[in-house]
Amino acid sequence: MPRAKLRALTTVDQLVAEEWIAGGSVVDIRDVVTNFSLRISAEMRQAIGSGDHGLLRQFVPSAAELRVGPEELSDPIGDRAHMPVDGLTHRYPDRVILAVTQACDVYCRFCFRREVVGQGGLLGEAALAAALDYIRATPAINEVILTGGDPMTLAPRRLRGILEALAEMDHVALVRLHSRVPVVAPERIDSALIAALGAHPAVWIVLHSNHAAELTENARAALGRLSAAGIPLLSQTVLLRGVNDDAEVLAQLFRSFLRLKVKPYYLHHCDLARGTSHFRTTIAGGQALMAALRGRVSGTALPTYVIDIPGGFGKVPVADPWVRAGSDPGAYLLTDWRGGEHLYRDPERAI
Ligand SMILES: *Cc1c(COP(=O)(O)O)cnc(C)c1O
Ligand code: SF4
Repeated sequence: MPRAKLRALTTVDQLVAEEWIAGGSVVDIRDVVTNFSLRISAEMRQAIGSGDHGLLRQFVPSAAELRVGPEELSDPIGDRAHMPVDGLTHRYPDRVILAVTQACDVYCRFCFRREVVGQGGLLGEAALAAALDYIRATPAINEVILTGGDPMTLAPRRLRGILEALAEMDHVALVRLHSRVPVVAPERIDSALIAALGAHPAVWIVLHSNHAAELTENARAALGRLSAAGIPLLSQTVLLRGVNDDAEVLAQLFRSFLRLKVKPYYLHHCDLARGTSHFRTTIAGGQALMAALRGRVSGTALPTYVIDIPGGFGKVPVADPWVRAGSDPGAYLLTDWRGGEHLYRDPERAI
């Protein structure tokens, strides 16, 4: 059945018109969106309109974002701690992440890069050239991860240019794109974009999706087009209180991924981004969910539950020996991949 064509929602006035002002006044919400960008893609606007609250909470701003806990950070995973050139983070020897744009088709309210996404557009030509020069001159780099923002919001021609440049570097065996586009803006996955992805011989996509309700008919078709093109698909999901912190909700999401030929890769503990404490679960809560899924669903459906150690020390599985319970409840000792030890405490509000 043809549907009325909606456009992306980008203003507080549009939120008011949709009656999506919750948990605070319009004044509060205006305050929130001056700090953290607002955008809800047409596809997600339509999906929220059909009444699913797992989606509303992810995309509609809330006055709760004005609460900033003392443990929350402006750069929670330390991207800027390992940035040899603008836009490029080189934390692990064999792989880098390259933020090719600050734009996304949605601005998720829990985003770990919420201080920078939506604040600018494309990485400038000079910065991109400098990043490519750095990669070209660093033979240890085996894999380049395009991120942002969302790299799949790039025009196909621009994406092709970047992939062609990387394809000319013999040591860059793999290119990975981390993207929410196939679910939030599936119309972008057209033949021009798919052809552009063919410009490097080994492109992998890691889809960010948190709730089965995001996997609309259009999203499922877009993922079908990507897998038909032979592109391997993985997923990453952020564990979010009130959205997917429930074994049945996660089981449904992970099973849906497998049907769409998307292999669940990571379940992320919610990072300490400013104004996101209402989304954070406890570490013990996340471990209990993973334990509840073990055995109940196929082993192929289970991602690794990981935490990004605050400050830029990398991601580790939330399991022994990387994460061990500390002396009191909610306190943990985290061991990074180099053996460094870090204290982590569940924020008060999460307990
Ligand atoms: C997450 C991340 C990666 C990728 O890590 P994998 O465990 O290989 O998925 C690489 N570099 C940085 C800086 C990251 O934050
Ligand atoms: S799509 Fe990704 S980078 Fe963009 S706002 Fe959402 S979580 Fe952040």
